[in-house]
Amino acid sequence: MNSYETTVRYFDHAAGLMGLSKNMQRLLLTPEREVKVQIALERDNGEIATFIGYRMQHDSARGPMKGGLRFHPEVDAQEVLALATLMTWKTAIVNIPYGGAKGGISVDVKALSQGELERVTRKFVDEIHDIFGPDKDIPAPDMGTDAQVMAWIMNQYQKFHGFNPACVTGKPVELHGAEGREEATGRGVVTVTEALLKRANHPISDVRVAIQGFGNVGSFAARFLHEKGAKVVAVSDAFGALWNNEGIDIPELVRHVAQHKQVVGFNGADKMPSDELLVSDVDVLIPAAIGGVLTRDNAREVRAKFVVEAANNPTRPDADKIFDQREILVVPDVLANAGGVTVSYFEWVQNRQHFKWELSRVRKELDRIMIDSFDKVWTIATERKVSLRTAAYLLGIGRVGRATVLGGI
Ligand code: NAD
Repeated sequence: MNSYETTVRYFDHAAGLMGLSKNMQRLLLTPEREVKVQIALERDNGEIATFIGYRMQHDSARGPMKGGLRFHPEVDAQEVLALATLMTWKTAIVNIPYGGAKGGISVDVKALSQGELERVTRKFVDEIHDIFGPDKDIPAPDMGTDAQVMAWIMNQYQKFHGFNPACVTGKPVELHGAEGREEATGRGVVTVTEALLKRANHPISDVRVAIQGFGNVGSFAARFLHEKGAKVVAVSDAFGALWNNEGIDIPELVRHVAQHKQVVGFNGADKMPSDELLVSDVDVLIPAAIGGVLTRDNAREVRAKFVVEAANNPTRPDADKIFDQREILVVPDVLANAGGVTVSYFEWVQNRQHFKWELSRVRKELDRIMIDSFDKVWTIATERKVSLRTAAYLLGIGRVGRATVLGGI
């Protein structure tokens, strides 16, 4: 089952419980626009390379569409559409005035020089500049893209439409970016983890955590957990995994990764086989890397009592069912990792007002939105006796559905 089928399965389940008609379900699932473009690049060595770029605009009933750009060799139309659909529910669940979109280029950024990456980015903007913008669709970073790529997008967009930094978010702080955007997704993950643990009468300072992925989201989640006194006992990245029963010294590990670009080789922990991380002896498991890692093959072995989905789509529906049966509480991606898009929204607001917020304000507003959203989802789950994922979908689909009907079909 691929990512798109996974998101449709979760949608179908919630839509069925809501009693949504088949016609309404089809309307809400069908993307508004799917764009696929050719990006031709003359490489530094004179060779010609051709890449395919996508922008999937799923839904704009609640406002301009919003979603990241992923530059990765495995990017394809189905994957991007799945992620665009998730964005629609995610922006609705945290109640920010956006719809959902996603984009990407099927390219291995590690094989490009900095100059080639810049040219690919600018050519992509040349192809899609008419369909995005502050009131239409606002891209942001995702895997393989960063603040520098967003700066090039802003600059290239300006050549067609004039100065308008609100056309893209996740920009460098020195170029109309927001304080706190980089840490936002990891911070949001920890805020909902703490809210969940409170409901379960588990102080965060007592828990043991495993985190898969030590990139932007995983490393910031680890830092905030460490600050709150939780023991991060296992971490991994694409190169390997580490274990320290007493808790890893996260600030030290962050320094190590800044220098060596991988967790392996850090001498404050032991090496462990990467596939053991997901089933290790912890209270909280945070997948923060790639999709589809929790499957029916490993779900029965998971020992954590709580799973917080920092990555998009990490849990296949079969595994989700097993977690439900085993009473493992799962905070779904559409809620857990919504901190990034929330602070992107703050960046867009600041750009439009030409007024900069302090970091303390960004954090306070982010924490408030994450806690309010978690509380709403928790209440629905309790009242309707459904999982947190189904409750989140009920909330998100309900809001998008109402906006669609109110706006007129
Ligand atoms: P990133 O590229 O900064 O980091 C990804 C990390 O995962 C790296 O440490 C990489 O080595 C590791 N990784 C890759 N394959 C792995 C594997 N097989 N096993 C273990 N580790 C592996 O990406 P990111 O921005 O941190 O995003 C991580 C996830 O969070 C993605 O699913 C992304 O869609 C999601 N997400 C990110 C944001 C954001 O603001 N960055 C927002 C919402 C959701």
